[in-house]
Amino acid sequence: MTIDKTGPRSHTTRLFRLLLLTLLAAFLMGSRGHCVRLGKATSQNTQTSPTWLRGDFHYHTTYSEDARRQMGDDVQTSVSLCEWAGLDFVAFTDHRTVAHHSDPHFKSNQLVLLAGEEWGHGAHAGAIGIQTQVPEVGAKRVDQAIQDTHRQGGIFIINHPCDQGSVWYSSTKDIDAVEVWNTPWSMKKNDTSLLQAKREVARLGFTPNPYILPALAHTGGGSNYQALKFWEEMLNAGRKIPLVGGGDRHMATVPGQPSTYVFAQSRSRKGILDAVRAGRTYVTRGPDGPTSLSWKADADNDGIYESQIGDTVGVGQPIPFRLQVTTRSGGTLEIVKNGQVVHKQTLPAGPATVSWVDTPGSASWYRVDIYEPISWSWPNAQAFSQLVKAGNNGATVSLLLNMIAFATQNGLSFAPIITGLPTMIFEDKYNRILNVSPRDPSRCRGAISSPIYAR
Ligand SMILES: [Zn+2]
Ligand SMILES: [Zn+2]
Repeated sequence: MTIDKTGPRSHTTRLFRLLLLTLLAAFLMGSRGHCVRLGKATSQNTQTSPTWLRGDFHYHTTYSEDARRQMGDDVQTSVSLCEWAGLDFVAFTDHRTVAHHSDPHFKSNQLVLLAGEEWGHGAHAGAIGIQTQVPEVGAKRVDQAIQDTHRQGGIFIINHPCDQGSVWYSSTKDIDAVEVWNTPWSMKKNDTSLLQAKREVARLGFTPNPYILPALAHTGGGSNYQALKFWEEMLNAGRKIPLVGGGDRHMATVPGQPSTYVFAQSRSRKGILDAVRAGRTYVTRGPDGPTSLSWKADADNDGIYESQIGDTVGVGQPIPFRLQVTTRSGGTLEIVKNGQVVHKQTLPAGPATVSWVDTPGSASWYRVDIYEPISWSWPNAQAFSQLVKAGNNGATVSLLLNMIAFATQNGLSFAPIITGLPTMIFEDKYNRILNVSPRDPSRCRGAISSPIYAR
């Protein structure tokens, strides 16, 4: 989310209102947090064989001026919170600074901590795995920033590229990933206006990258959906670029919502960054979202699925693909080829395996999207939705009453780590409502993979 902007209707302002109301509701009801550990316990930093690691590439500590103002959390508290949340890694991405890097509490026995910054005014990018701040000067500032990040061994991620006020018009040359999924989808339900973007481009008097305006032409899905289309524009142009997710936590939310999984050769900074560079990523809505996702291809048709996310198979011959994934209560699989849904099927609850064959005739890419069901007859589903709307649109007394009613029904608790504002935990069904697909309210976004390519 674009947090350091100052408009009265900015996302931060809305979220802040939501939080204040939530706290008031909790206070009025005498609600007390109980301990809920969200993820599996993580092992020490000893893993040496390749494995999927779960983390968050976008997190603000109080070294970000806005997070400090919003009662966010210092490095020490943030490390404890991310450990408690069961993450394997986290990148601290404070606005235009790497000051957290030299903080005495920037250390962990459980987590791989990545130094980084959220680069840029207006348009934002994550420069991850760097040692010193990446300057922002001159007409070629983006190209120079990417080079500087790479010189330091880091990766450069375009953050929330289609958010109002931070649209990414600049070059995309040599970027390493796109943050397609920034915060829960319902918080990104508003479209960014193509017309406004065109006006802004005309005012600035330069040619935007070729992907952004076509992406903004998609309406009805919110700015995460437009970011998805921005990424697909690049993939359709023949680029090989993975997606990542960003919780963009400033305060009060559990880190890792969404979570990015990376297939790392080692549990280390290099292992994680190399995994992104190799395109081996997928994003889930959080720790309770679809798990154990495996998307593979059998390029030589010998019955062994040796090609996985990020890999490239040949064209002109039938390729068997296989998805394995575990969902809590089932859902829908969509296989997306070159931006089109080419296969759709229902998934049962629990572990599922789907086999599918396709013959790529020319350069192609294949991704999986997992959706999970939402029932609007769940207890307080409507009330919770109202609560989210209150966060998005400002608050009224009647919404406050809804929230109090909601809190009394035990949908809300707080993390056991003492944070600046209490860190809210939502039950799985409310996490689904938070990730409702703006284009289809009967389901939520569960997971999105990076592609397998055919060339
Ligand atoms: Zn940002
Ligand atoms: Zn941010």
